Amino acid sequence: MISGKDRGKQGKIIKVLPNNEKVIVGNINLKKKHQRPKTGGKKGEKIEAPRPIPSSTVALVCKNCGKPTRAGRQILPDGKKIRICKRCGLET
Ligand SMILES: [Zn+2]
Repeated sequence: MISGKDRGKQGKIIKVLPNNEKVIVGNINLKKKHQRPKTGGKKGEKIEAPRPIPSSTVALVCKNCGKPTRAGRQILPDGKKIRICKRCGLET
């Protein structure tokens, strides 16, 4: 995370929402949600679920160099697309 209240935290990206450029990151931006009981007689429970955050507020941390980086794309000769770290140039 590069901004907001969770600045400095790291989490794993669970889901990318390309349409509105948001991402869901585990452990980040948790919102308590009150879940209503589906059947009568049971108590509702509060669950914590990560909410989508704008992708501009997160930075990718490279697994090779361990630093926040920008991701680049590279297309291999066999047509496979990989994500590379622009800092160290390795696949991440
Ligand atoms: Zn790197």
